[in-house]
Amino acid sequence: MPAELIDGAAIAARVRAQVAAEVSELAAQGTRPGLVVVLVGDDPASAVYVAAKGRACVEVGIDERTITLPSSTTQVQLLSLLDQLNADPSVHGILVQSPLPKQIDFDAVIRRIDPAKDVDGFHPVNVGKLYAGARDGFAPCTPAGVQELLRVSGVETHGRNCVIVGRSNIVGKPMAALMVQDAPGANATVTICHRYTADLAEHTCSADILITAVGAPKLITADMVKPGATVVDVGITRIPDATRKSGTRLVGDVDFDGVRNVASRITPVPGGVGPMTIAMLLRNTLRAAQRARTA
Ligand code: NAP
Repeated sequence: MPAELIDGAAIAARVRAQVAAEVSELAAQGTRPGLVVVLVGDDPASAVYVAAKGRACVEVGIDERTITLPSSTTQVQLLSLLDQLNADPSVHGILVQSPLPKQIDFDAVIRRIDPAKDVDGFHPVNVGKLYAGARDGFAPCTPAGVQELLRVSGVETHGRNCVIVGRSNIVGKPMAALMVQDAPGANATVTICHRYTADLAEHTCSADILITAVGAPKLITADMVKPGATVVDVGITRIPDATRKSGTRLVGDVDFDGVRNVASRITPVPGGVGPMTIAMLLRNTLRAAQRARTA
């Protein structure tokens, strides 16, 4: 029997509806959550992501402002803008869209954001809180979204083998940090794989939950998946497709048609993890505003 699809679009819509309800409660108490997105330069893909984030904010009642700066912006100018936003009580969340122009050091920028407004969860304070299992930080949106998908889909994680392929700071490592915690929706035995992993298939075949975040189409084939496993595909790659009007389509890391016959549950690409990332950004912004109110 083919694997059940984990419908990220439907689950994300439920998260957004819950966020909208809580935003309206908070607004009735006098606090309207505010998110500022800073876009530096004219990368077309970044402009598309930022516009999508803006629309999602409007839909749930979060005040969103995009500040667009020229690609010639210096690091000093960007840091000074962040200082102003950190000091502005109407701004609860700050997000600096990557990639940044070469003259700007991304780490320096992330470190300048007030950790209480770091809704992307990239500041070292939030990274540390995530690893320590503290609940008053922010988890990065994509791995938090994956954990939510697993929870809502009723996937047992306690005592299960969770293999994560990819070790980036925005997906793989925080994903591992979430799954290894002594907490609901976690308590997994976690393995992280990367380019130097000697035998990738040996690890992936042991996974009850396989999460891939690489950006390599068809890296994971059916013979690399344990029968009955849950497979979550974070990867997104645009490949040529002459049958599409656009001439391209998006694919993940998983050979979907093959793996679907082995796994018990699987996320599609698109429509799996992607919609959850923005939904979790909205939730993090709401939490930032709620915490600011009670601080
Ligand atoms: P990244 O920084 O490029 O990291 C990719 C990771 O994959 C690296 O850790 C790399 O290992 C590992 N890797 C590369 N080739 C491998 C191989 N053959 N075997 C095992 N591991 C391998 O990418 P990222 O930012 O984490 O993003 C990963 C993918 O997720 C991309 O396709 C991206 O577009 C997508 N993504 C999707 C969302 C969403 O909302 N759905 C959000 C973020 C990212 P090394 O560390 O050894 O180089």
